[in-house]
Amino acid sequence: MPTLNLKPGIVTGNALRELLDYCKSEECALPAVNVIGSSSANAAIEAARQAKAPIIIQYSQGGGQFNAGKFLDNSKQAASIAGTIAGAHHVRTVAEAYGVPVVLHTDHCARKLLPWIDGVLDAGEAYYKATGAPLYSSHMLDLSEDPLHENLDTCARYLERMAKLEMTLEIELGVTGGEEDGVDNSGIDNSKLYTQPGDVLAAYDKLAPLGSFTIAASFGNTHGVYAPGNVKLTPVILKNSQDHIQGQRKTAAKPVHFVFHGGSGSTQDEIREAVSYGVVKMNIDTDTQWAYLSPIKKYMDDKDAYLKSQLGNPEGPTKPNKKHIDPRAWLALGEKGMVARLVQAFEDLGALGKFGG
Ligand SMILES: [Zn+2]
Repeated sequence: MPTLNLKPGIVTGNALRELLDYCKSEECALPAVNVIGSSSANAAIEAARQAKAPIIIQYSQGGGQFNAGKFLDNSKQAASIAGTIAGAHHVRTVAEAYGVPVVLHTDHCARKLLPWIDGVLDAGEAYYKATGAPLYSSHMLDLSEDPLHENLDTCARYLERMAKLEMTLEIELGVTGGEEDGVDNSGIDNSKLYTQPGDVLAAYDKLAPLGSFTIAASFGNTHGVYAPGNVKLTPVILKNSQDHIQGQRKTAAKPVHFVFHGGSGSTQDEIREAVSYGVVKMNIDTDTQWAYLSPIKKYMDDKDAYLKSQLGNPEGPTKPNKKHIDPRAWLALGEKGMVARLVQAFEDLGALGKFGG
């Protein structure tokens, strides 16, 4: 087993590269969890501590905006930029306190949202100048709606900028189905839901000389949880792409690091097959949202008689309800639910016991 020298705090640069290589060679992957503020971020960090493994924490554009507050005007992405930067500083500080290595990432950025990543990168460059480390470990660009060459040209331009900060770029080839963060791809043509090996080779040729990158490929995966039957998950597309590059460019086996979007609702067998073909990161959002909500819903139901007014409950007409009303009483339950679901994700991804735990 290759050795890893991971330190608590944010994993960037060569350390991230080694971590992704390690995951690929050990056939395990890390959960990438969408967070929207300190509560969900802390739950993700605690899950990593319990799993004794690193975790990937990501803000979407909407998640960043929420972190700054929906009150703030978001024209020109001002709120999304501010919230995404603030979120990074929170995770940096708390991850170190928990003693957990965290990969800090941003999720889907379509072409119209590029000003968001531009703003975060401006802050990242200033942070790098001051500290010698990037603010974020990696960003994702999702230009999969564009023609392939436009997608790759823009990604190459960003990777050149990000490589100077020792950052990794995640790109998307093919379209993840379903709906997330206000982007609805549930009606899209089925052929677009499957990435072509030739496209993966083109991305490899364009980006490999420039820096570190990962590829979100489409193999029938969808955002959200749906009744089975509509789209078939076919992870073998990932294997075919790896074999194609290896054959054409005479690389070692599995030259590409893949990302599995829409991990929620997938079976452990499906997940492990995808991981065996070079998936090193699996995004999980809907399942952790549900795991966060469920215990809070139960609390609201169970404590209903204590939550109708500030004074008065079954124990007496003037008994105070302050301790039941306090958001800390019920947000903590959501966090615990999310921790448990994420520990399950580490198990599904074959990551338990792989990092010295
Ligand atoms: Zn996604």
